[in-house]
Amino acid sequence: MSAYDDLMAFQRETEALGQVMGRLGWDQETVMPPGAAEQRAEEMAALDGVLHRRRTDPRIGDWLEQADTSDPVAARQVQKIRHRYERTQRVPEALSAALARTTSLAHRVWAEARATNDFALFAPKLTEVLDLSREKAAALADGGNLYDALADDYEPGATEAELETMFSALRPRLVALRERVMGSERAVPKLSGAFAEEGQLQLSSELAGAFGYDLNSGRIDKAVHPFSSGSGLDVRITTRTALEDPFNCFYSTIHEVGHARYEQAIDRDYLLTPLGRGVSMGVHESQSRIYENQLGRSRAFTGWLFDRMRSTFGDFGISDPDTFYAVVNRCAPGYIRTEADEVHYNLHVLLRFDLERDLVAGRLDVPDLPDAWNDRFERDFGLKVDQPANGVLQDVHWSEALFGYFPTYTLGNVYAGCLNAALRNDVPDLDAELAKGNTAPATDWLREKVQRHGGLYEPKTVIEKATGAAPSEGPLLDYLDAKFSEIYGI
Ligand code: ZN
Repeated sequence: MSAYDDLMAFQRETEALGQVMGRLGWDQETVMPPGAAEQRAEEMAALDGVLHRRRTDPRIGDWLEQADTSDPVAARQVQKIRHRYERTQRVPEALSAALARTTSLAHRVWAEARATNDFALFAPKLTEVLDLSREKAAALADGGNLYDALADDYEPGATEAELETMFSALRPRLVALRERVMGSERAVPKLSGAFAEEGQLQLSSELAGAFGYDLNSGRIDKAVHPFSSGSGLDVRITTRTALEDPFNCFYSTIHEVGHARYEQAIDRDYLLTPLGRGVSMGVHESQSRIYENQLGRSRAFTGWLFDRMRSTFGDFGISDPDTFYAVVNRCAPGYIRTEADEVHYNLHVLLRFDLERDLVAGRLDVPDLPDAWNDRFERDFGLKVDQPANGVLQDVHWSEALFGYFPTYTLGNVYAGCLNAALRNDVPDLDAELAKGNTAPATDWLREKVQRHGGLYEPKTVIEKATGAAPSEGPLLDYLDAKFSEIYGI
């Protein structure tokens, strides 16, 4: 066996154990009996220890030195393994353990603080998490930019400077569009009525199938917060139902199917290797968002969904597909990121990006965070935050030390905008097929151009190869302007 073969055989086992760990997480959120929580924590910690020892195994260093990388795929595998290995080694074990311990506690304190609307309760724990994260960033950055060092875990190669340039071009146009939409005379009604859970779940499965989800290598369960997990031959999604809001169920399902299809569509040769997973959170989110929004909330596809909803639930008070399209895309300012429409969503993300950059750089202290949040929110949304649970305490990310994660949501939307423009250029009769509930021309295009490559190319390169141009915010803004100008008659 060559050094490369040894390295890949070792890596394959590590990847397999990583998948097992992910499946334990899935189980915990879906079917685990509540009494098992304590034992499960111990099982996860044990497996985490095994994975950590494997990821820091000194033999990896030897194999990396000797591996033959004349083949480009082998070179990319080795590059990804080396990158991970070097990053893991730069963070002292004591710091890693302190972060794991502190975030686990911080998560609990955050949940309590959110439930009781008490930021002061969370502030000391958040300060600890931030201090440790800055320490970790310094260890990783080696004199370079702290935020870049943290963001690399989620979006390899992304830099604060580049993101800032892109996002500061987005923000003024989004704020302007938001104001025009809110000033429109045209009132878009809200969906009302009750929609039986059975019908929601049945139509949700139908939607998953319509978007190409392979149930032979996947399954759909219910969870409080929808997610997808796993890769290769076992990729699972969850959804949720709310009696009066079937769109929550349908669009959660379509979103998670976008993530899941990415994992299912990756070239089989990469199974259980570093290339066998989506390349970044941003590219992942581009798949979920284009499925959900540019395809799932398009005029053509909602026409089909309107008919399917009428056959499932009978008359639900909306009589024509044009009104239904507007209802699906209704804009309303709100406090909560995860409930935001397409016009407001990225403004929520940009706010978090700017605040967490300030936190990581030491320009903003944790006790001043709520005021900074509330001021910015009022400026961009024209609304005063009424309570911390609707503001600074709403997201779990910072309690889990996920600094650098938020921008990947907007990056995903930007990438989805670029992909949508290129897709519509390549497949001119797309809407005719979407109107029949057939997404295959779109999903086949995405599989071919993006999904099958897995981790083969850097995130920006995947988008550039698929669209023929470097990613930029322009196509997303043009798409949003055109769509919401029409819906709101502005
Ligand atoms: Zn997502």
